[in-house]
Amino acid sequence: MSRKVHVKSFGCQMNVYDSHRMADTLAPGGFQETAAPQDADLVILNTCHIREKAADKVYSEIGRIRVMKEAAAAQGRKMLIAVAGCVAQAEGGEIMRRAGSVDLVVGSQNYHRLPELVARAESGEKIVDTEFPVEDKFEKLAAPNRDAIRARGVSAFVTVQEGCDKFCTFCVVPYTRGAEVSRPVAHIVTEVERLADAGVREVTLIGQNVNAYHGQGEDGATSSLGQLLRRLARVPGIWRLRYTTSHPRDMDDDLIATHGELGALMPYVHLPVQSGSDRMLDAMNRRHTRADYLDVIARLRAARRDLAFTSDFIVGFPGETEQDFRATLSLVEEVGFASAYSFAYSSRPGTPAAEMEEQVPDAEKSERLQRLQALITRQWHAFNASFAGQTLDVLLEKPGKLPGQLVGKSPYLQAVQVMAPRAMIGSLVQVGITDIGTNTLFGTLAENKAAPQLAAAGA
Ligand code: SF4
Repeated sequence: MSRKVHVKSFGCQMNVYDSHRMADTLAPGGFQETAAPQDADLVILNTCHIREKAADKVYSEIGRIRVMKEAAAAQGRKMLIAVAGCVAQAEGGEIMRRAGSVDLVVGSQNYHRLPELVARAESGEKIVDTEFPVEDKFEKLAAPNRDAIRARGVSAFVTVQEGCDKFCTFCVVPYTRGAEVSRPVAHIVTEVERLADAGVREVTLIGQNVNAYHGQGEDGATSSLGQLLRRLARVPGIWRLRYTTSHPRDMDDDLIATHGELGALMPYVHLPVQSGSDRMLDAMNRRHTRADYLDVIARLRAARRDLAFTSDFIVGFPGETEQDFRATLSLVEEVGFASAYSFAYSSRPGTPAAEMEEQVPDAEKSERLQRLQALITRQWHAFNASFAGQTLDVLLEKPGKLPGQLVGKSPYLQAVQVMAPRAMIGSLVQVGITDIGTNTLFGTLAENKAAPQLAAAGA
């Protein structure tokens, strides 16, 4: 029987990947994806717990879907509502108590059980499944079929690692995603080969702490992320590799060397630091100092000098003084980022930082955040402006806003818009950059437009 599922993703790329896997796992049971929740027989809200008031936002979204569920019921059609992801993991049965319209709450480790859970929910059972199971979720999740891969484009995410053992005092991930788990290399290679075969040309390896990757290698020994990247660079059809999100402590020599060796590994590293003050880094339990971070950046730059860096910052962590904050500003000045995400600290229930005294007043947090964001924005604009008149390799991904226009990505993850025929989607081309927009670079196809697919690193 053909039915429709709508999966709405909140938060990070890992949730986007999980949403795809959920749809793939339900497909053999007759569920087709729909972009219209009102038409769906099953709506899955794949939630994120990182932002402030995440649970409140989920309850308000459930309220919106409940109206659609009631409209469907009035037409004699049954709609199920499922809540998945980190809020589901953290709130569990509380969701069912507060929102009676929800039929199923499924934690982030149990998506492979969805066909069975949905079948039980369809027969009227209310289900909460947030246990951390012993079986391997990844290998039980269905692989996408060729059509699904093609529909998702030429750039794909592949989760290689999940969970985190670092326990930063502000973060819920170790509680919602559990301990670090890495997938075996052979399974990842099979998935990437399947993606490449269906036309994917760029793969971003993702994990909450991706450079802590320590999966079983094809020879039975433990593989590092550097070794995994080298193996994936040999998959025919894969031209570009990226990875995110990393922890400075896990940036080992092998991974750093990989940046100098692999042309397929894009010269762009997202390396969260959170603060430039050692006092704050200690309070955050980051397990690295400012000097450690700067040393990692220097070693990466020595391996490949055109590397671009982005980072995450938390402003106004409990106890942060003006002096601590200035240490963050000076670190930003010292590194020079291509861009960065910055947030005012907000507490997450259940984390040690939520219990800390010396919470910084909101007004102070927002004043500091403005100063930091002004500096980051200046660096971001200067980074983009440095490409005016340059030629960049661009992987063309999808149609742009204007007729005849395509949008692609530069090696540094910048969006690049260029006039080019639709048939060139999936091509790696050289683009001469003519204009710099706020979020986008504009250019024209270079005369010799085919880019060398695996350009030498270390340029
Ligand atoms: S390393 Fe990242 S995911 Fe792990 S606890 Fe710290 S902030 Fe959270």
